[in-house]
Amino acid sequence: MIDVKKYITTIGILVAILILGTVIVNIFISSLAHIFGLLINILVLSIIIVIIFSTIVTYNIIKDKKVSYSLMKINLKIANLLFNSVIFIASSIGIPKNEIRKIYVKLNNTYIYNNKYNFNYGDIIILVPHCVQKNSCKLKVTNKIENCAKCGLCNIGELIKLKEKIGINIFIATGGTLARKIIMENKPKAVIAVACERDLISGIQDMKHIPVLGVFNKRPNGPCVDTFIDIHEVESAINFLTGKKISTKGECF
Ligand code: SF4
Repeated sequence: MIDVKKYITTIGILVAILILGTVIVNIFISSLAHIFGLLINILVLSIIIVIIFSTIVTYNIIKDKKVSYSLMKINLKIANLLFNSVIFIASSIGIPKNEIRKIYVKLNNTYIYNNKYNFNYGDIIILVPHCVQKNSCKLKVTNKIENCAKCGLCNIGELIKLKEKIGINIFIATGGTLARKIIMENKPKAVIAVACERDLISGIQDMKHIPVLGVFNKRPNGPCVDTFIDIHEVESAINFLTGKKISTKGECF
């Protein structure tokens, strides 16, 4: 569930800081050349207009209202530029960073879902965090997912069945460095990344040259322990990226 009010509050504070900063600068530069003050005011006003424009587009996307593809694309670029400032302000006023990260993942995913793709299964990589594996399981599945005995206690078994049925590449990444290495070695055309908000943002920002669809893992036991995946969300992402449909039996039609 995305709380867009927290995002708007953060943006409101960002705009207020910009206005306050400009007022202070104006007081201090009143003795300097008039043209300099004018330029600063025009620059800040332009930035504020861009931020407000981006917030309106973002609000509409979060509320699943229709937004044109080009506006979505421009907004994604603006949102990426604002990301660090927004995260900083949000955490300074006690808004959890994940609330903001969720918004950016939604902007990214909505933009990708407004494209059309026709990839083969082999062109796609699914990256899964290690915490999906049952904590008590002693099998070493990080280097070779096939080592899983498919006991059914975690999602890894289901993922292997998916891999066996459609031949999609699935890797378990123990961190961002390994995820980047997997991408560099396998050169996929698209990635379905399953992770928490923080890792998804970092992965999406790292791989700007290919579509990365983010899927949040569920964390009923807290972060990084016995998390799980909604396999249907992963299947929907595969269906979208391939333009095919995996049936519940894993067959395509
Ligand atoms: S499905 Fe069972 S065997 Fe496979 S990783 Fe999970 S707990 Fe281990």
